[in-house]
Amino acid sequence: GGAQEVDVPEAISTVLALLTHKLSDRIVVEQDFQAPRILRCSPALLNQVVMNIVGNAADAIQGPGQIRVATRLDGGDYVIEVSDSGPGVPEEIRARIFEPFFTTKPVGSGTGLGLSIAYTVVQAHHGSIAVDDAPGGGARFTVRVPAEERA
Ligand code: ADP
Ligand code: MG
Repeated sequence: GGAQEVDVPEAISTVLALLTHKLSDRIVVEQDFQAPRILRCSPALLNQVVMNIVGNAADAIQGPGQIRVATRLDGGDYVIEVSDSGPGVPEEIRARIFEPFFTTKPVGSGTGLGLSIAYTVVQAHHGSIAVDDAPGGGARFTVRVPAEERA
């Protein structure tokens, strides 16, 4: 339901444009698109999931830093990966960050809903979302959805 032919690099550049104020000049965004441009999915996969993950990455980075947004095919999966040069997600809260209302941000600045919404949207695509360490030590969020829509 609600799936469309989404041009992923184009949708990601729209997301990045919407986050300009948050990214400002301090964060360099690297883009590496290896997967096909077109993915049949809900526009929310980019507008909400990628938007939230990149927004969180920008919040996590203090001072200058980098965010890398990459796509690739892995078996039957379309993979979207966002890594950042921030402090990473501490091991002890990793199991909780996808829960509704879980936030470590000051009162009034984070609702704690972003990743729980992302989780729900990804589930609706029969996919998965996970966090681990980026090669440089920051956080890396990996979203996997089937590259071909299910019947
Ligand atoms: P919010 O952004 O409102 O806090 P989210 O559901 O988007 O809610 O994120 C939940 C929590 O996960 C954040 O408060 C933060 O502690 C952690 N988190 C998410 N992304 C990152 C990241 N890139 N680096 C470090 N911590 C993160
Ligand atoms: Mg958030």
